[in-house]
Amino acid sequence: LTYAEPGKVFGQEELSVLGRFAELASLALQNARKYTEARRLSERLAHQAYHDSLTGLPNRLLFSDRLQQALADAERRKQAVALLFIDLDRFKLVNDGLGHSVGDLLLTQLGERLRRCIRRTDTLARTGGDEFTMVVTDLTDPRQAARVARKLLGALRQPFTVAGYELFVSATIGISLYPTDGRDADLLLRNADTAMYRAKTKGRSTFEFFSSAQNSAATERFRLETQLREALKHGEFVLHYQPLFDLRTGKVTAVEALLRWNRRDPSNITPASIVAVAEESGLIIPIGNWVLDQACAQQGAWRRIGYPPVPISVNISPRQFAQQDFIGRIASTLRNHEIDPHLLRLELAEALVMRDTVAAARTIEGVHALGAGIAIDDFGSGSSMLSYLARLPISAVKITQPLVKQLVGTPGSLMVIRSLVAFAHSLEIGTTALGIETEQQLEIVRQAGFSTVQGFMLGRPVLPDDLIRTLDPSAR
Ligand code: C2E
Ligand code: MG
Repeated sequence: LTYAEPGKVFGQEELSVLGRFAELASLALQNARKYTEARRLSERLAHQAYHDSLTGLPNRLLFSDRLQQALADAERRKQAVALLFIDLDRFKLVNDGLGHSVGDLLLTQLGERLRRCIRRTDTLARTGGDEFTMVVTDLTDPRQAARVARKLLGALRQPFTVAGYELFVSATIGISLYPTDGRDADLLLRNADTAMYRAKTKGRSTFEFFSSAQNSAATERFRLETQLREALKHGEFVLHYQPLFDLRTGKVTAVEALLRWNRRDPSNITPASIVAVAEESGLIIPIGNWVLDQACAQQGAWRRIGYPPVPISVNISPRQFAQQDFIGRIASTLRNHEIDPHLLRLELAEALVMRDTVAAARTIEGVHALGAGIAIDDFGSGSSMLSYLARLPISAVKITQPLVKQLVGTPGSLMVIRSLVAFAHSLEIGTTALGIETEQQLEIVRQAGFSTVQGFMLGRPVLPDDLIRTLDPSAR
């Protein structure tokens, strides 16, 4: 009533109109609330209809819709789509052994982990008890699908903690590609399923493409990666040591540690490919740490048996070098084995040092500050700048093998190398000629003025026990 004009009150008629308004307003409000509730309910029902209640991931219905959509888009935009069929390995054992409630909790965590691996535009669905499917769109290269598969498998590598149990779950993945392996959803699903079964026969925790064309490269590499991981776990790696000789005195000035895989079933995979696969997959970090530790342990063992100290050179890969705690790791390894830092030398590829010069320089300074040596490996394989290296505390450069080979029979290159060697020596940087296989090569690198040589002719990479004969002629 206070809303009436000043000095006036509402009349009976006005009051009844106002009352009507109030009724209508309250009715409208009630309706609105009901409407919102109804909308929420229908949204919730729709979400339930289209999602798996356990993991919250899309279910089969929504997946099939998204897949159709993706295929239609891909057809229009002339793009490829990958369909991944993901089957958990031996999941039944968890359900049977620990009960369904543990199984359910595990699936919830697992769904969450897998979800974190995917892009917003891709769809990952739970389509069965221990079965997931995924559609990867906008593919420009089938290798992208392999990368996704690797990522998913990688996400499962760490154990899950469920109800006090530590559980390991692995998966096997089959991949089919649109349009090469099928143009419709049914065929693509069938083919991904076939690929998955084939993958299972080759071992768990792996993936396989439906078409053989894709398989050879991507999956072989992945299998090798898995084998390398196992090899590291089972202690199948060993280090061989190859001596470097002083060209004037003939004495051993250092030994280079080289990674070897002591496989039960021998293969002809080269150390360089092992290192390349390890680098790509990130496995080089644990392998590299092992190498470093092993080399320092060897140094300690030689000291204990009263051996004249000889520096060990360890090859360092780009990923290792880029690690945040790289310097810390070197320092702690030296400390753990009580090794004089001067007895450790790190070999860094030329390309690595040149690529990111500021950060590289900082790390090199850090290594130098510890007292360990730095050699630039494969020098002369790229656009090297010795003048740049002059500003870094480098102890040696190792001239790449093709350059050494070229020396024989090309007088011009002898002149170039000779001045390079002289320049390095003027900066007190040692020079190593790598890959000496013949007397002729040895002679020419002597003429070029190199300080040290390394090569099969003078000493192959061997196990530590065999090296003793080279280091100590009296032991021969
Ligand atoms: P690299 O550092 O240039 O090592 C020297 C390579 O030359 C070794 O190959 C050695 O066996 C080979 N070599 C030595 N003398 C001769 C010779 O007279 N003739 C010929 N043909 N070859 C000779 P290897 O052991 O196969 O290693 C290949 C590459 O793999 C190494 O090249 C290095 O880049 C990498 N590598 C080896 N071990 C490790 C490691 O522990 N960590 C890392 N990150 N890389 C490693
Ligand atoms: Mg090397």
